[in-house]
Amino acid sequence: MQGDGHVHSQFSWDAPRGDMEATCRRAVSIGLPALAFTEHADFVVGVHEDLTPLDPACYLEEVDRCRRLFPDLRILSGVELGEPHRYPVEAAAVLASGGFDRILGSVHCTPWNDRLMDGSQLDRLPPGEAPGFLRAYFTEALALVQSVQPFQVLAHLDYPKRYWPHAELPYREEDFEEELRAVLRAAAQRGTVLEVNTTRGLDPRRGLCPGPTALRWWADLGGPAVSFGSDAHDPEKIGLGFDLAADLVEAAGFRPNDDPAGLWLR
Ligand SMILES: [Zn+2]
Ligand SMILES: [Zn+2]
Repeated sequence: MQGDGHVHSQFSWDAPRGDMEATCRRAVSIGLPALAFTEHADFVVGVHEDLTPLDPACYLEEVDRCRRLFPDLRILSGVELGEPHRYPVEAAAVLASGGFDRILGSVHCTPWNDRLMDGSQLDRLPPGEAPGFLRAYFTEALALVQSVQPFQVLAHLDYPKRYWPHAELPYREEDFEEELRAVLRAAAQRGTVLEVNTTRGLDPRRGLCPGPTALRWWADLGGPAVSFGSDAHDPEKIGLGFDLAADLVEAAGFRPNDDPAGLWLR
């Protein structure tokens, strides 16, 4: 079983049920060899009312404590930078404040109708606007990947798919081939790792970000590696959905191996 490279704990502003120690205990009990606690560092203003900044010092103290409590579990410190290309000063300050083993680069918010909108608000738009919103999202993801931001892993490539109006409109990766390939090509060129995000085991039609076609494009375009992340926000959800994700990542041409970072390589 591969490690979970995208987990949140109580140090993430949107994880009220997060609990680092309980998450480690759960990982040991289900046989996960490694966890990366990739806490949110978000900087957007006016989108999330409950957003609070990450406290890296407190967070890293708890990572150290859990490493002592669970010596057989490989615990990576980490951070999920939201739109760091828009907030380079703020992102740099977070990175300077602690040694993070795993840095995820994420896009959650996209300019839409003259303001920034989180992909999770996609269900507030008429279904007919969803394809346009997704194209805007991929434009933003391309800007992230083409920036100088020092993230190692591109998280949830097509995050708004979770909130897509699937009942009204099928979501097909082929409909966004040009946009997806542009992001993947730029990511491969900078040696980025692509995450397959299982959204806590949610129905893969909604929750597997990205799906099998984009994973094949990633291999075609020379993408070097894939990481697995559940994006769990509470202890019970780690590792969910990894069986199907592993099958699809393997079908795309990546293999498990003894890479110490837990990545699958071609
Ligand atoms: Zn995210
Ligand atoms: Zn996350």
